[in-house]
This record gives sequence, structure tokens and C-alpha cells, in this order.
Amino acid sequence: MITEEIVKTETSNNPVLRTMFEMGHEEVLFCNDKATGLKAIIAVHNTTLGPALGGTRMWPYKNEAEAIEDVLRLSRGMTYKAAISGLNLGGGKAVIIGDARKDKTEALLRRFGKFVDDLGGKYITAEDVGMTSKDMEYIHMHTNHVSGLPEHIGGSGNPSPVTAYGVYMGMKASAKHVYGHDSLEGKTILVQGCGSVGQNLIGYLVKENAKVLVTDIYEDKLKETVDQFGVEAVDPHNFFDLNFDIYAPCALGGTVNDASIAKMTCKIVAGAANNQLKIEDVHAKALIEKGIVYAPDFLINAGGLINVYSEIMGNYKREVAMQKTEHIYDVTIEILKKSASENMTTLQAAKNLAEKRISDIGNLNIPFSGRR
Ligand code: NAD
Repeated sequence: MITEEIVKTETSNNPVLRTMFEMGHEEVLFCNDKATGLKAIIAVHNTTLGPALGGTRMWPYKNEAEAIEDVLRLSRGMTYKAAISGLNLGGGKAVIIGDARKDKTEALLRRFGKFVDDLGGKYITAEDVGMTSKDMEYIHMHTNHVSGLPEHIGGSGNPSPVTAYGVYMGMKASAKHVYGHDSLEGKTILVQGCGSVGQNLIGYLVKENAKVLVTDIYEDKLKETVDQFGVEAVDPHNFFDLNFDIYAPCALGGTVNDASIAKMTCKIVAGAANNQLKIEDVHAKALIEKGIVYAPDFLINAGGLINVYSEIMGNYKREVAMQKTEHIYDVTIEILKKSASENMTTLQAAKNLAEKRISDIGNLNIPFSGRR
């Protein structure tokens, strides 16, 4: 009989399996297809509440280890995100190793779709960084386990506007907690990453007369954003030297770390990027010590997930998804209050809420009926 103890001992030298055990992943699928050049990893973290739904990210990772770390952390974040948002979904994520601007082809996406299908519905994919609704259409040619499909084929389209609305709600709730009112008028807000979510968020902030500073590693994205919204562009490498009230990370994870926290003068971190804290517990505490309020990423960036969940439920209506996303404001207030009153990080308060739901529903021991 193979006990967990034996398996743990046998695999203790394998960093991937060790991390899987530590983080509690159920399954990780490594995908390789020579003909199309596809190298992908699909991670299913937890399916207690339902099928593991999470986007596919295409990114030119420096090496496989970086991609593995990303997919393992991102998929666990999706478990928390679905749970805290009250959705009957588990957490999963996929990464494709490659440059979306150069390496993405129809054949590669369709081959990836077949790998998703091989998981038999345990994992449902959607967009993430480097992917579009059109890409989901190619993936859909080989699997039904895909969401965020274009509207013209009955899907919910790009989820980013809904994600941005949720981030905006979370940011306003954080402002209410810090300043006593939730108006962002006159606040200086730095948005890092002028992609799909970043640009939609900037739209809300500009409308509310915030002073918005923007940055991106791609010059064309930066120019497009400045031209469209009349905001100010700043250097993507040195912006933590600047003074701003709110930092909205909307690019990749890990930007809240020792170096950035040392320079931060802002009062709030509230953005769309997943895994913003480089080392979760360490940097959640470091932010508190500096008097900076952190709105947990998996809580406030859940709008996109709420949106694609509405799509797979059928009878999709964007207004309904937006209404449900608005609830992020109330949950953020609840988490920030709990963190302050119980002297714990906002991250811990949010994780506790998510974990309680997973445990309560898991303990019911009633097989999932498929009704979502
Ligand atoms: P996107 O690919 O459209 O945009 C990301 C942008 O960030 C790009 O313009 C890219 O050039 C820029 N960028 C990358 N590294 C950067 C850096 N170091 N400095 C400055 N800019 C940088 O992606 P998106 O869909 O807007 O998602 C943004 C973030 O939000 C991601 O972390 C994603 O996982 C997360 N997120 C997105 C959604 C969604 O609905 N799209 C939902 C939840 C979370």
C-alpha cells in the first residue's frame, strides 16, 4: 500500500511533487507537442467546490521552473478566488511557455485544446495574459471545457472589463477603509500594466477624476493608453521612486517584494495581477508594518471569474455578471475590518473565509450534482 508518508519520502527530492504536496494540488499535466512547438502545463489545485476553472497564460518564461512555479501558485489562487466569491468552482490554471506575440498559432492553440479535453472537464480554461477570446475559439474546436468564448458564438466575450470593475470596487472599498470615504477623486493612482484589465480600470479612475500614472514594458501599449485616456506615462523600471496614493498592479505577479515595499509611500495596494505578493506571508506582514492596506488580489480580481462562471451557467447577461461583481466592495470591507479587528493580515483574513467555505462544503460529503 502506498501511504502519503511513503510517497512524500520517495518524492522529497522532486521539487515539483514536493511543491504539489505542500500546496495541496490534485493533479498537474505536462503537455508537449513537437509538431506545433506547444509546451504547456495544466495544474488542477482543488475540485472540492466544482470543476477547476482558470485561465491560460502564454508567457515567455525564462525556464521551465519559472513556469511551474507560476502555474502552481496561480491555480491555488483560483481555488481561493472561486471559494471567496461563492462560486461552485475549483481552482486550476494553465501556462503555455512562449511569446504570445510571436509563437502563438492556430495549430498550437488547437493542440492545447485537445490536452484540455483529455482532462475530461476537471479543468475548464479561459483567457489570461497573452490570450484572447479568439484564441478560446480555436481551443473550443477540440474541447467544450472552455469559457470566455467570443460573443458571436454564444460566449461572454473578453472578461477583462468585468475584472476591472471588480478591482475598481475593491479599490474604492479600500479607500473607504483608509480615508473614511470611497471617492478616488484627486488621488494619485499608479496603474502598472496597460493591458485589457489595466486599460478598463484606467477608464473608471479617469472618470472619477483621479490623477492616473501609467506604465507598461511595451511602448505601443503605453502610447495607446496615454492617447486614449490623457494620463501620464512613467518609466516601468523606476516608478516606485515616485509618490502616489494607490498602487494598482495590473501586469504580472511578485511586484510587491522587499525592494518595492522599501520604497513604497502609498497607502493602498489594490490591483488585478494575480500573486502580487512575492512571498505571501512575509510581504503581507511587511505591508501592514508600513501601514499599507493590501486588498487581496484573489478577492478583488474575481470579476472575470464571476463573468465566465455566468457564461457556463447559461443564459449569460453581462449586467448580471457586473451586479454580482459589485459585491466585491462589501466583501473587501468585511475582510479589511476583520484584519484590523483580529490583528491578522488581510491575506490571512481572506484565506480564512475561502478555506472555511471549502471545508464546510467538503464536509457535507454530498457528491457534486452538476448544478452550479
Ligand atoms: P494583458 O496581457 O492584457 O496585460 C498585461 C499588461 O502588462 C501588458 O500590456 C504587458 O505589456 C504589461 N506588463 C507585463 N509586465 C510588465 C512590467 N514588468 N511592467 C509594466 N507592464 C508590464 O493581461 P490582463 O488580462 O490585463 O491581466 C493583467 C493581470 O490581471 C494579470 O496578472 C492577470 O493574471 C490578472 N487577471 C486578469 C483577469 C482578466 O479578466 N483578464 C482576471 C483576473 C486576473
